[in-house]
Amino acid sequence: MQFETIPHPSPMADDAREAAIADPGFGTVFTDHMVTIDYDEGAEGSVGGGWHSPRIGPREPIALDPAASVLHYAQEIFEGMKAYRLADGELALFRPEENARRFNASARRMAMPELPEELFLEAVNKAVTADAKWFPSVEGGSLYIRPFMFATEAFLGVRPAKQYKFIVILSAAGNYFKSGSPAVSIWQSEYTRAAPGGTGAAKTGGNYAASLVPTGEAFKRGHDQVLFLDAVEKKWVEELGGMNLFFVMRDGSVVTPPLTGTILPGITRNSLITLLGEEGLSVREEPYSIQQWRSDAASGDLVEVMACGTAAVVTPVGKVDSADGEFVIGNGGPGAVTSKIREKLVGIQRGSVDDTHGWVKLVG
Ligand SMILES: *Cc1c(COP(=O)(O)O)cnc(C)c1O
Repeated sequence: MQFETIPHPSPMADDAREAAIADPGFGTVFTDHMVTIDYDEGAEGSVGGGWHSPRIGPREPIALDPAASVLHYAQEIFEGMKAYRLADGELALFRPEENARRFNASARRMAMPELPEELFLEAVNKAVTADAKWFPSVEGGSLYIRPFMFATEAFLGVRPAKQYKFIVILSAAGNYFKSGSPAVSIWQSEYTRAAPGGTGAAKTGGNYAASLVPTGEAFKRGHDQVLFLDAVEKKWVEELGGMNLFFVMRDGSVVTPPLTGTILPGITRNSLITLLGEEGLSVREEPYSIQQWRSDAASGDLVEVMACGTAAVVTPVGKVDSADGEFVIGNGGPGAVTSKIREKLVGIQRGSVDDTHGWVKLVG
């Protein structure tokens, strides 16, 4: 498919852009362009089941009919990925084809059309190429990439929509956690995030909407993130609001909750399983209960806990608080395994550590 390029009449001036990306934080500084692809069921001459009119142009508001079904029944999915700057100055993506694949897995669960993987990848590459000068030069900086899709059809009956938009926007990103503290503290919520048979494994906005009250409670109590247990027994550790968890034991083994359909299959999670294995640690994907966590932390059998995801990379968890009181993991600060694995992952993403798995893909 041929992308149309719509000229930008007024991209941000160089000095204003430089000021905006000097200390971008997370999720508020947006770039000049966006990629859009439309879907109409059965559109004439379309490729990939109705996708058509791929274009890159100015980032701008979207006109939507007030009956657009996303506004009523929430057919929406998204991805989160980053462009990194390699030591030689080139921009690169980390395992982008995994995002393309997961996007389609989310689409299937939400009864939305799949987007051909090569079209997803081309859209992401075009967006990053157009706005490469928005890359922030701050330490740990990246261009955060947000591909998403939603139902645009004006229709109030309850069935999958017949029209969708796929859009890619970019945001200059610094560090995810404002505090910059060496380890995060988390609040174990009484709310649950996902039930068996639900949408917990899909990256869909509704999961996040449901997590805002519990996350707000965590913030109000002075914590950085919310911890969710399983919805059936309220016993098994699942994940944080947007990050997967790993438990590092004194005996050199590592436990991470299995992908049973109620947690998000993180690409960082998958990468860490490989990297931890290469460090000689044996990773077990098996259920881990909150009681076990508490007692392992007390006995010292548990030495480190890390949370991982694209936005926050690898972050040590120092403290857990709940209605039953709080407990600390290790010395409450970052442990050796967490620091080492974070350095290795960041090194691969930024080209200073050998990419033996072919995970890094140059933009362009
Ligand atoms: C995106 C996401 C993650 C992390 O996935 P990555 O691919 O590692 O970025 C974890 N949990 C939830 C709920 C998510 O939405």
